[in-house]
Order: sequence, then C-alpha cells, then structure tokens
Amino acid sequence: MPTFVYMTKCDGCGKCVDICPSDIMHIDPVYRRALNIEPNFCWECYSCVKECPQNAIDVRGYADFAPLGHSVRVLREPEKGMISWKIRYRDGRLKEFRFPIRTTSWGSIKPPSQYELPDTDSISSQLLAHEPDALKIDKLPDLPKRKKA
Ligand code: SF4
Ligand code: SF4
Repeated sequence: MPTFVYMTKCDGCGKCVDICPSDIMHIDPVYRRALNIEPNFCWECYSCVKECPQNAIDVRGYADFAPLGHSVRVLREPEKGMISWKIRYRDGRLKEFRFPIRTTSWGSIKPPSQYELPDTDSISSQLLAHEPDALKIDKLPDLPKRKKA
C-alpha cells in the first residue's frame, strides 16, 4: 500500500523526507512539493502520513488485493496526544479508532551491546536473544505439545 501526496495540500516542508526510513519521499525540484519516487519500496510504515502537518499524504492499496473505494486515513495530533484512524470500507461503513501517542523517552531502551553475549547452547533454545528479560516477564508460557498425526 504505497503512499502518494496530494500536491495541492503539500507545502514542501520536507518532514516526510526526513522521516522516511526507505528514503523514497523526495521534494520535486521544479514544483517544490513532495512525492514518493519509488512506491514499490514503500514500507507502509505510515510514518510520513503521521508526520505530515498538512495531512497531504495518503496510502493506496494495490488494486489486485485491496478493495477499490476503501480508504485508511490517520491523523496525528500531538497537542492532544492522540492518533486517530479512520477506516472507510468499500460499502460505505466507517470505523474510527483513537489511541494515545506512545512515547518512549530517548535512551530508555537498552541497546544489544549492553546485554550479555549468548552462550553456545543458546543456538538450540526457542528463546530469542534477551528473552524473557527484555519482555519483562520471568518465563515464556509453555507451548502445548503437538499431537502426532
Ligand atoms: Fe516512507 Fe513509510 Fe511513508 Fe512509505 S509509509 S513513504 S516507507 S515513511
Ligand atoms: Fe508536503 Fe506533508 Fe511532506 Fe511536508 S510532510 S513535504 S507538507 S507531504
């Protein structure tokens, strides 16, 4: 579901360019408005959509799997501390969701270099690196044993 820009709403501020992890949001050198230069490389992360102060970026599903006529809009309102999603289905139904903006203070996440190195037995463990500590739990739940077919 790549993004596209409504050029009449865009004011060329460049915030989408700065935040795009795929480096595909660029400012057109002639029109001074943003555009997605490589939609196939869009991560669909919605970072640019949330960051755009003009609400000028939209996301469009590929016609081969997304029902045409739907829309997914997201609005970030930092002054209210909220993110709002508006999902419109092809049959006209509308669903709206609002969530508080989650903020993780800078430097509060321990980097991998500050964890102990895994030992050689870890390769046969089902746990991922730093689990279960990084999940802030004592132990992962036991998986039910699969019945033999
Ligand atoms: Fe870049 Fe993400 Fe926006 Fe796609 S959705 S253009 S990857 S910021
Ligand atoms: Fe245009 Fe929005 Fe990108 Fe700013 S963040 S350049 S207004 S699309």
